[in-house]
Amino acid sequence: MPLLVMKFGGTSVADLARIKNAAEKVKREVERGYDVIVIVSAMSGKTNELVGWVEQTSPLFDAREYDAVVASGENVTAGLMALTLQEMDVPARSWQGWQVPINTTSAHSAARFVSIPRTNIDTKFAEGMKVAVVAGFQGLSPEGRITTLGRGGSDTTAVAFAAAFEAERCDIYTDVDGIYTTDPRISSKARKLDKIAFEEMLELASLGAKVLQTRSVELAMRYNVRLRVLSSFEDTDENSGTLVCAEEDIMESKVVSGVAYSRDEAKITLFTIEDRPGIASAIFGTLAEAGVNVDMIVQNISEKDYDEAFPGSVTDMTFSLPTNQVARAKKAIDDAYAKGLLKYEELIIDEDVAKVSVVGIGMRSHAGVAARMFEALSKEGINIKVIATSEIKISVLIDRKYMELAVQALHDAFELEKAA
Ligand code: ADP
Ligand code: ASP
Ligand code: MG
Repeated sequence: MPLLVMKFGGTSVADLARIKNAAEKVKREVERGYDVIVIVSAMSGKTNELVGWVEQTSPLFDAREYDAVVASGENVTAGLMALTLQEMDVPARSWQGWQVPINTTSAHSAARFVSIPRTNIDTKFAEGMKVAVVAGFQGLSPEGRITTLGRGGSDTTAVAFAAAFEAERCDIYTDVDGIYTTDPRISSKARKLDKIAFEEMLELASLGAKVLQTRSVELAMRYNVRLRVLSSFEDTDENSGTLVCAEEDIMESKVVSGVAYSRDEAKITLFTIEDRPGIASAIFGTLAEAGVNVDMIVQNISEKDYDEAFPGSVTDMTFSLPTNQVARAKKAIDDAYAKGLLKYEELIIDEDVAKVSVVGIGMRSHAGVAARMFEALSKEGINIKVIATSEIKISVLIDRKYMELAVQALHDAFELEKAA
C-alpha cells in the first residue's frame, strides 16, 4: 500500500472544527488508496502556554521536567484526531512518542532521533488500520524519559516518519499555502515559490523562517524525502503548495531567493578582555557548558596596553543569542567571573536586536550581494551592528524596531516580488 505522511501544525488543529477539517483531508487520501501517518502539533498557543507555566514555576528549569510538561499538548491532539477519524468511519489509532517508540538522544528540549522502529505501526496497518496518528515534537530518551525536539519539532517528526516508512511524500499542512520569498505576514509583496532547493530552505529555516524546522529540512535532504508545504484551509491537490527539492530540479536560481528574520535576538558584549590564546575558548566553553546557543560572534581588533588592569593587549568580544537564553548566559559568565576564570571590565546586554538575512544559491557565483544589501539598509537609515556571511547567506543584526522595514527594503532591493 502506498503511504503518505500528513502533518498538521498548531493552527490547523486549533479547535475541534479545525481537527475535523484536517481529518477530512486525511480521509480523502485514504479514499485515494493511501495508508496515512498523520503527525499532529499541539493546538496553537498550547505549547507557549505550557512553556510559560514551566518558566513561572522554575526560571532555570530542569530540562527533563520541561519536556514532560511541554510534550503534553501533542498527546491531546493525537487522541482527538484519532477519535475524529473514527467518527468518520476511518480506522485510526493514536500513538504517543514512547508507544512507537520514537527513540531519541537524551538532549532534552533539543533531542535528535536515534531510531523509529516500524513494527508496532506496521502491525496495525496489516490488521486493517488506515491511519496512524502520531504525536509530533516528542520522543523517548535512552533513560526512558520523555524528550522534545525543539520548537517547531513536529515538522521533523513528520520527515523522520516519511523516511522511516518510505512514504511517497511528506505533506506539511499549515496556515499559509506554501513557502514564500519572505514571511507573508511581514511583506504583502511576498511571492509564493513553486519549488525551493533544500540548501536554500535549510538556510531560511535556520535564520528564522519558521515555516519548517531546520532539522526537518536537513533530514529531508539526507533521506531524499519529497517534502511539500501547503495550506490546510484551502482545497489542495497534488500540485498545490511548494515543493522542497534538489537544486538540480529547479530551472532558474535567483541570486537571492528569500529574506528571513529572527525577532528575538540579543547581543552581549564583554568589554576589555585579555587578548591571549584561550580567551575565546574560555568564554564560549563556559557558555556551551551552560547550554547557551551562541550565534554570531565578533571580536574587535586588539589594542595594546589599553588598560592598566590588563597588562598586554586587550580586546572586546560580542556575540548574539536568543533572548530567552540571556539569563542563562549571564549566570554562566557571572559564575566564571566569580571563580576568576574570566576577566572583563564591563558586560553589556542589548535585548532589542533582531537578525535579518538574505539567502540564495545564486550568491555562490555573484559578487556584490553584500554591497546591495548594505546600501538598501543604509537608504532606510538602518544601522548594522553585526554582520555574518556564508556561501549562500548574509545576515545582519539591527535594532528590532527596524526589523519589518529591513525585510521589506531587502525584498524590494532584490526584486523578489517579480515572478521567476
Ligand atoms: P505550524 O503551526 O503549521 O507549524 P508555523 O507557525 O510554525 O505553522 O509556520 C507557518 C508560519 O511561518 C506562517 O504563518 C508564516 O507567518 C511563517 N513564515 C515565515 N517565513 C515564511 C516563508 N518564507 N514562507 C511562508 N511562511 C513563512
Ligand atoms: N507544538 C510544538 C511547538 O509549538 C511543536 C510544533 O508545533 O511543531 O513548538
Ligand atoms: Mg511550525
